[in-house]
Amino acid sequence: MSSSLKRILVTGGAGFLGSHLCDRLVSQGHDVICLDNLFTSQKTNIRHLLGKPNFEFIRHDITHPIWLEVDEIYNLACPASPVHYQHNAVQTIKTNVMGALNVLGLAKRVGARVLQASTSEIYGEPTVHPQPESYWGNVNPIGIRSCYDEGKRCAETLFFDYHRMHRLDIRVIRIFNTYGPRMHPYDGRVVSNFIVQALTGQDLTIYGDGQQTRSFCFVDDLIDGMMQMMNNNEGFIGPVNLGNPGEFTMKQLAELVLELTGSTSKIVYLPRPSDDPTQRRPDIALAREKLKWEPKVPLRDGLAKTIEYFKQINLADFRRPTASTAHSRMGL
Ligand code: NAD
Ligand code: UDP
Repeated sequence: MSSSLKRILVTGGAGFLGSHLCDRLVSQGHDVICLDNLFTSQKTNIRHLLGKPNFEFIRHDITHPIWLEVDEIYNLACPASPVHYQHNAVQTIKTNVMGALNVLGLAKRVGARVLQASTSEIYGEPTVHPQPESYWGNVNPIGIRSCYDEGKRCAETLFFDYHRMHRLDIRVIRIFNTYGPRMHPYDGRVVSNFIVQALTGQDLTIYGDGQQTRSFCFVDDLIDGMMQMMNNNEGFIGPVNLGNPGEFTMKQLAELVLELTGSTSKIVYLPRPSDDPTQRRPDIALAREKLKWEPKVPLRDGLAKTIEYFKQINLADFRRPTASTAHSRMGL
């Protein structure tokens, strides 16, 4: 193995983003360890990698310490969909905080570079729009999204404290809504919900009046940015926003999914869950400047690729990660 090939740990490596990252790292020849407890994913996402000599899967919960010898760590382990991260809020906090402590401890012991997959959720209900990294956010500390938002905020704090105290080589990226093939069909996030609903003739469920906005980034673009950040050797550690600045209302998204699938499904309106942010759009000036990165795939093209993926999977092969729905606690 040449010296440019590394031993790389990807926590949450069987998930939506993690499996795409593992693909790239394995194809570059790195020795990849994918660690996952398969809470919101299935081996389906990494089945094609399982026989490869430079890929290894470890079923492990990152809230427990693990001893490995690696050169780099991508810390992605955490349920990303509100439906599933709210199912066991305490476990979500543990995954974010104890998970961060465990990967940081591991990185410190072996001198590895470590990247944290943070989130636009750390901005909460933003009062600054679009959101630059310098904005400190507007987060409810006691709401139903807090286990995730505050967990991720605390993880960022831990990363920067390990950097200050132990000179640990860290990278922090703040990911805005990303979509694409290998999202779990029962993930509960808006893109997968709308596509599965459209393809199976169910009503598309808009929460609220559909005027809330999100900015959607195609997975290939996001993984490019994530790897560029990890491989940046110019002293830039972040945090850096990674996302697509194109901003859409959920009503626009639903209409686009109907158009691209040719579905005759109807749109229905359900109550909006509490603390659901009204608007979200990344300011990516820093990523453009420091990483020379910007997304290339327009929403329409990315959705078309995602729809193709959902057309060829068999829904019967997937189990629901949890029994929760966005409206479980509303009794709907
Ligand atoms: P995902 O749910 O598909 O993947 C997360 C993976 O982490 C799953 O495979 C899950 O089984 C695993 N996991 C959860 N808890 C774990 C634990 N305690 N121990 C080990 N593994 C555990 O979600 P994703 O979209 O791939 O997100 C990956 C990361 O990126 C997450 O940290 C998420 O917070 C972050 N992120 C994603 C987005 C997005 O839009 N996709 C946006 C912001 C941040
Ligand atoms: N949403 C929706 N219908 C769905 C799922 C989600 O209208 O079936 C809305 C949700 O209320 C939110 C937006 O879509 O305003 C994005 O939700 P998602 O769970 O994908 O991500 P997040 O809220 O974490 O950005």
